Amino acid sequence: MQNRQYRLGVADASMGYLYPPQLGIEKKSSHMLCNEISNTNKYLTLDFSPSKNTLSNTNYHPYITKIITSILLIFTFLSCTKNTEFYSRDDYNKVKKIDVHIHISTARDAFGEQAQKDNFKLLNIVVDLSKGTQFIEDEYTHRLDQKTRHPQDFEFATAFSIKNWDDPDWIVNTIAWLDKSFNEGAIGVKVWKNIGMVFRDKNGELVMIDDPKLDSIFNYIEKRGKTLIGHLGEPQSCWLPLDQMIVNNDIAYFKEHPQYHMYRHPEMPSYEEQIAARDRMLAKHPNLTFIGAHMGSLEHDVDELAKRLDRFPNMSVDLAARIGQVFYQTIEDREKVRDFFIKYQDRLLYATDMGDRGKQDVSELQKKMHDTWFLDWQFLVTDDWMTSGRVNEKFQGIKLPREVVDKIYTKNARKWLKMFSDEKE
Ligand SMILES: [Zn+2]
Repeated sequence: MQNRQYRLGVADASMGYLYPPQLGIEKKSSHMLCNEISNTNKYLTLDFSPSKNTLSNTNYHPYITKIITSILLIFTFLSCTKNTEFYSRDDYNKVKKIDVHIHISTARDAFGEQAQKDNFKLLNIVVDLSKGTQFIEDEYTHRLDQKTRHPQDFEFATAFSIKNWDDPDWIVNTIAWLDKSFNEGAIGVKVWKNIGMVFRDKNGELVMIDDPKLDSIFNYIEKRGKTLIGHLGEPQSCWLPLDQMIVNNDIAYFKEHPQYHMYRHPEMPSYEEQIAARDRMLAKHPNLTFIGAHMGSLEHDVDELAKRLDRFPNMSVDLAARIGQVFYQTIEDREKVRDFFIKYQDRLLYATDMGDRGKQDVSELQKKMHDTWFLDWQFLVTDDWMTSGRVNEKFQGIKLPREVVDKIYTKNARKWLKMFSDEKE
């Protein structure tokens, strides 16, 4: 028999066929052994070479022992591979995660404290709610304050006001504001649905996202190497009557905010026109790093979203407040949704759109945060059958492979937003 060595991937050579006597197999659970193997970065070498006089009576027994030990090691290795391919519900607290779409507009630390407990870091985003420059500055101050006090837990994104759009100095002033924001640490800029759905210029025309006047702003964001986050348009449901909406959170939102329920405002641009304006803007700025908030307003159909991701390589999307539409699509075709998440694993960022304005009861807020984050984790990492207030039927988790989960929860945020770029992974 020839000397043969089998290299079996990640393990420590020191744990070769000498194991188990040296390490004591009976004292170690397979879980501990898996951790040992995955914490090392060398190859496991199994040596099948027989010692001299192998078949003599005196050496027969050690030879058999070697074989049995090697087989045991192979089984252990295979079970490790199986265990490390997927996360479980119990891994929730252990795994570092980032929520790239939250809004904290208060000095209190309730949100950040719960995020720490749930092992989340956060992107705290300013939104231009069409209330003018002072409003933006106040909102911005809260973001900067949280970042300054908890630099390891927060990054922040700024926004700009379009209230003074018709001023001849609007572009210069807006760039000056962005310059100040970037110099103070903002890693991105958010534009909101008021562009396209609310704000009108002095001639009474709606300003759309592909307006040439915005090009200088987007060029500047690109030049500074920052990311544009766009909540543009709304979910397709917004153009449907309440009883045809597919998720309960949309029904609740549009009941409460009829001014944004486009079904009631047929004089306004259609869903397709909103998406087309966004696409024209992206076509004009192919080198701008863009994150479509809320699944790029293509939340209802992973096929439609896939087409945009194929067409615009610098576009990714966050999942904020649209996980219900993902649940809904898995009820119809779970494999299709799962395949989409795996195929576009580099283009999806975990996010919720939760926030704190300092008014909600702290324990209520923190419970909601934990429950939301944990439910989404369960959905993404397990194949459990689940329920959620967002949809009316049971649905099954999509059990994504571990490396896909890591990208959606952290790696993509580091790549698309350069979050915590001074930190080691
Ligand atoms: Zn938001």
